[in-house]
This record gives sequence, C-alpha cells and structure tokens, in this order.
Amino acid sequence: MQLVLATNNLHKILELKAILKPLLKKVDILSLRDFPEYHPPEETGTTFLENAEIKTLHCARALNCLALADDSGLVVPALGGAPGVRSRRYAGNDASDKENRDLLIENLKPLPERERSGYYECALSLANPGGIIKSSSGLCEGVLILEARGNGGFGYDPLFIKYDYSKTMAELGDDTKNRISHRRRALDKLLLTIEAELSAVI
Ligand code: IMP
Repeated sequence: MQLVLATNNLHKILELKAILKPLLKKVDILSLRDFPEYHPPEETGTTFLENAEIKTLHCARALNCLALADDSGLVVPALGGAPGVRSRRYAGNDASDKENRDLLIENLKPLPERERSGYYECALSLANPGGIIKSSSGLCEGVLILEARGNGGFGYDPLFIKYDYSKTMAELGDDTKNRISHRRRALDKLLLTIEAELSAVI
C-alpha cells in the first residue's frame, strides 16, 4: 500500500509523516522527493483549497497513485489576508523563510498590538487518478510577535504564538506542534477516508 505526499517541502513531509506513520503502519509513505523526474504544476489557485486540489490531482494522474497534497500558509486579517496563498513567496519567488519573516515583521510593526493576530490555514486534498476523493482544512489561531524565537518548525513558526500558549510554534517542539497544528486538524478530518482508500487498493 502506498500513499504519495504531493510535496517536496521537507518540513511538510516530516510533519505529515510523523502524524500519519503511527496510524498507517503498513503503508509506504512516499513524497515527490522519491520522484526526481516529477514536474509539479503551477499553483494558480486563489485559495489554499484550490491549490491543494491542483497539486494532488496532478500528482495522482502523473504518478498513477493515491496522492495527498498540502497547501498552507499564514493569514493576517489586518494585512488584508497576507501573506495568504503567497506565504512561501511573500518576499519574492525564491525568498527564504527568514526573508519572508523579515518582511512580515516590517509590515506588522505599524499595526497596533491588538491587530497583530492571525491564523495558519492548511488545506489537504486526497486524490486518485480518477479525481479528487475528499478535501479538508484546518486552522490554528494565534498572535504574531516582532522578534523571532525558537529553532523548531519552519516558515513563520518563530513569530507565531498559538492562543493559550506562551511559546512560539518554533519553541514548542515537534510533538506538541504536531498535536495542535492546522496540519494536524486538517489531517484528522481526512484520516478515515485515507484509511478506506488504502484498504480498497489492496
Ligand atoms: P505552499 O508550499 O505553497 O503550501 O506554502 C507553504 C508556506 O506557508 C511555507 O513556506 C510557510 O511560509 C507557510 N507555512 C505553511 N505551514 C506552515 C507551518 O506549519 N509553519 C510555518 N509556516 C507555514
């Protein structure tokens, strides 16, 4: 039994595998890193969900497999929803996580503290070559700080403190992040379907 994670992002792969592996013990969980010849589609969607569906359908058809794609990012309502679907490319197409965080800090600075809040959104989509099977989404809400703290996680995690927590996502550690994250919440809603599809493939 195989499931292909339709992503090259090592952080997403590690987080998705850490959540899925204990639940899907007999399943080979692969990713696009196992298919170096694969050409990903352009992410032309205007929502996380549209992009997740573009990525998973393309992967399922190109590799003839059961595919799971993640499209995710940070939304700051006081910045008009930015970085949003452009989270990975906020400071430019090849921007590093640090460059994206630095730009976010610059844009947050003029805002009053009460408006420096936001949420992570993760859209997940499961597909086989016949089409999309099911999609889901998960949110994680919190506040943004202006100085990075912590070395864990990725992306905007050193600036993001989930409500009811005192540490940034980058300080919490992988196990805690994977219990409370937007990715975890989206995955919980999809798990029964993933299990059903995998057992139908046998
Ligand atoms: P995508 O690869 O187009 O889905 O963009 C994902 C981008 O959203 C990442 O590069 C990060 O900037 C941001 N992002 C998504 N999930 C997380 C997370 O769990 N922590 C921090 N940043 C995230």
